[in-house]
Amino acid sequence: MSKGLPKREDDYSQWYNELVKRADLAENSGVRGCMVIKPYGYSIWEKMQGQLDQMFKDTGHSNAYFPLFIPKSFLSKEASHVEGFAKECAVVTHYRLKNSEDNKGVIVDPEAKLEEELIVRPTSEAVIWSTYRNWIQSYRDLPLKVNQWANVVRWEMRTRLFLRTAEFLWQEGHTAHATREEAEEETVQMMNIYAQFAEDYMAMPVVKGLKTETERFAGALETYCIEALMQDGKALQAGTSHFLGQNFAKAFDVKFASKDGGLDYVWGTSWGVSTRLMGALVMAHSDNNGLVLPPKLAPIQVVIVPIFRSEEELQAIEEKAHEIMDQLNPLGISVKFDHRDTHKPGWKFAEYELKGVPVRIALGPRDLANNTIEVARRDTLTKEMMKLDEVDVSKAIPALLDEIQANIYKKAKDYRADNTRKVNDWDEFKKVLEEKGGFISAHWDGTAETEEKIKDLTKATIRCIPLDQVKEEGACVLTGKPSKGRVLFAKAY
Ligand code: AMP
Repeated sequence: MSKGLPKREDDYSQWYNELVKRADLAENSGVRGCMVIKPYGYSIWEKMQGQLDQMFKDTGHSNAYFPLFIPKSFLSKEASHVEGFAKECAVVTHYRLKNSEDNKGVIVDPEAKLEEELIVRPTSEAVIWSTYRNWIQSYRDLPLKVNQWANVVRWEMRTRLFLRTAEFLWQEGHTAHATREEAEEETVQMMNIYAQFAEDYMAMPVVKGLKTETERFAGALETYCIEALMQDGKALQAGTSHFLGQNFAKAFDVKFASKDGGLDYVWGTSWGVSTRLMGALVMAHSDNNGLVLPPKLAPIQVVIVPIFRSEEELQAIEEKAHEIMDQLNPLGISVKFDHRDTHKPGWKFAEYELKGVPVRIALGPRDLANNTIEVARRDTLTKEMMKLDEVDVSKAIPALLDEIQANIYKKAKDYRADNTRKVNDWDEFKKVLEEKGGFISAHWDGTAETEEKIKDLTKATIRCIPLDQVKEEGACVLTGKPSKGRVLFAKAY
């Protein structure tokens, strides 16, 4: 009944693409790599935004907005930053079109060439630090903690709906501090907020860690990240938080008068999560019947489907449905009553399964007579009969939503535990990666050369140097050279 959704076990990648489209989350557009986010998909994104935004505000950040275009000279000021993004920049060179001489269409007017070319922002450090220069003079102006919700463009060659697109939506936090310690604390705090959001709201367990130098953000001294494991055993970087040191302050000459009368460069951080999280949400929990959404992010948490033959039956059911809604709505639970007579109940059941609605209540004439409701859970695909004489809906449904939230988190966590393996030997490393996938915890000699070689040989990359782990010295899984600790390898999106 899932409209012929490809099976997850047959072709994970096709299953994902089809699911995103059929569940009305997003579709491709006329521009390669750019997607249209459909209303249902956008409503999930809005729930994510709403929660994250609250978490940012609770930790003292304010929202602002900076321009989409960055003068090329600005981007070039921090050397490693421009080098990191140069390969995927969209550049505006002209500001006008005109009719072609043969009147066959419009062409770029060669006369309307911009004096300075503009980069469509791939990230906003350059434009924001050039602004901070005017905002920060003294220690009294610090800390400055700003977040922006925006779109960015990175001209990605291999794109996939939500996970990697040429234009994506995100938030980017940019903070400025008087001391190194404070900036480092901020970087770690934001990684922790991302982890908390992923685990408590997305029901997606993540590993918190540090990126290696190779994978570090262009212009950062340290990149913290959260890494998640998808159901096909591939890893996904779900969020990053960068400690920028004084790099951008030096590049944009942002100095402050310190308390003791000195003059020093400001310390910076930046951090972001994107619409990639939508892809992570789909890949972490969904099944062959469609999406499985964690109740905390589901735009519709409960759907009531009436089973009726006549208008009178529908009217009686509608009354009961409204009684239930009146009990649930004040608790902040979003309930939809789907009384359409254009679709059969079976069709609706399949549709809400595909859309990942956590709880479905079916109400028919027999239920009215017996004062019962049939309650189905999306996560386990099980049904139970609730007797309304015995059960208080306003307690039972919230409890069920909590249980579903906890259950899908546990399922994802068990999957990750089953698919994280300690490996000490190169042949085993290749074998595990080939046959099982998942996270491999192995020793690495700490060099970029070995990291690159392992990537060339196996396609596995170092996802992170996990923060929570027992210190253990060992020998590099490839070279046998001394290693200071284990790192997490995986094939990744
Ligand atoms: P970065 O600025 O590179 O640290 O990226 C910030 C966030 O955006 C990270 O959480 C990335 O996972 C995400 N991200 C990076 N590139 C893309 C892309 N092409 N499409 C969607 N999300 C992305």
